[in-house]
Amino acid sequence: MKPATKFIHAGAHPDPSTGAIMTPVYQTSTYVQEAPGVNKGFEYARSQNPTRKALEEALAIIENGQFGLAFSSGVAATDAVIKLLSPGDEVICANDMYGGTYRLFTKVFERFGIIFTYVDTTHTANVAKAISDKTKLVWLETPTNPLMNITDIAAIAALTKPKNILLAVDNTFASPALQNPLDLGADIVMHSVTKYLGGHSDVIQGALVMNDAELREKLYFIQKSCGAVPGPMDCFLVLRGIKTLGVRMKAHCENGRIIANWLRQHPKVGKVYWPGFEDHPGYAVAKKQMKDFGGMISFELKNDSVEEARRVLSSTHLFSLAESLGGVESLINHPASMTHASIPREERIKNGLSDSLIRLSVGIEDADDLVEDLAKAIG
Ligand SMILES: *Cc1c(COP(=O)(O)O)cnc(C)c1O
Repeated sequence: MKPATKFIHAGAHPDPSTGAIMTPVYQTSTYVQEAPGVNKGFEYARSQNPTRKALEEALAIIENGQFGLAFSSGVAATDAVIKLLSPGDEVICANDMYGGTYRLFTKVFERFGIIFTYVDTTHTANVAKAISDKTKLVWLETPTNPLMNITDIAAIAALTKPKNILLAVDNTFASPALQNPLDLGADIVMHSVTKYLGGHSDVIQGALVMNDAELREKLYFIQKSCGAVPGPMDCFLVLRGIKTLGVRMKAHCENGRIIANWLRQHPKVGKVYWPGFEDHPGYAVAKKQMKDFGGMISFELKNDSVEEARRVLSSTHLFSLAESLGGVESLINHPASMTHASIPREERIKNGLSDSLIRLSVGIEDADDLVEDLAKAIG
C-alpha cells in the first residue's frame, strides 16, 4: 500500500458494536470482567485502551514497523527507551539535538548512572570511535533541531547491528511521510507525536515503533509500569491527524522550499539551514534517506545581534512566536532563549547554535502570504 493510502486507513476498523467508521473515544478507566480473570483483552486502561490500541496499530503501519506504543509525550517515549538500560551502560548521542532530550539525559538519567557520550554523528567515524564495551544504545536525531544536520542512519546501523547495540532515531522532524528509519536499519523510531503526526497543535503525545517482539515486550512493560500513557481523546485526535499527514507534508515541503530559497537571496539574511540546498553538507545523505526536505528552516541575520533577532521575532504576524513545530500554522522561534535554553550557552555556541539563530516551522498557509510576512519583519 502506498503511504498516502496508509495514512488514511492505518488502524481504522469499523467499531464492532455500532459500525462507527471512526474509532470511538473509549473514555473509561476499567472494563467489567465476566468472571475473575475472564475479560475481552482489556483489564485496566493504563495497560490497555481500545482507542490507544487503534492508534498504536496505525503508528506501526505508517513507520513500516510491527509494533507501536503511544506515550503521554515525546520525552516520555524517550524516557521509556533509556529505562531499558542499567547503571554503567553507555549511550552515544548527537551533540546537536532537541533541548528537552539533552535535559532528560544530563539532568535526570546521569544521576542514575547512565553514561552519555555526545559526538558529531554527521560523521559516522565519530560514532565508530566512541563505541565501547559499555555502549548499549546509539540515539540519533536527523534532521537535527535546530541546525538541520543530517546523519546517515544506514551507515550508523551498519556499526551498531553487528555489536548488538540498539539504534534509536528521533524521527520527529522528518515524520513518517519523509523518512522511515526502521527501513534503514534502526531498531526503534521515536516521535514527538505533538508535532507533525498530531499536526494541529492541539495534543502532547509521544510514540515508539519497533520490529522486534522481545523489544516490544520490554517497552510495553515499561509503558504500563511507569504509566506515561496518553488519554483516549488525545489518541483519537492523533488518529484523525494522521489521516492528512500525506497532504500536509507535501504542503509543508512545498512552502519550505519556497521560503528557504527566498531567505537565501535576501540581502539581510546570513546563513540559511535547510537540508534541501545542494551545498548543505548533508544534502547527499538527505536525498538518499528522505523523500523530501521538510518545512523546518533555521537562519541567521547578517546583523548578527540578539537585538536584531528579537526585533524580527517580534515583528511577524502569520508566523506566531512560539515553541513547538509541525502544526498547520507557521511558527517562529528563538532557540537560544526558548526551545534550547536548557543547554548551557557555552555548549550551544560550541555546537554552532548562535544567539541570533531563528527557527521557522513553515506551515501550510499560502506561501505568498508567508513570504510577505517575513519580508515585512526582516525589513
Ligand atoms: C518536541 C520534540 C521532542 C519532545 O516531545 P514532546 O512531545 O514535547 O515531549 C523530542 N524531539 C524532538 C525533535 C522534538 O521536536
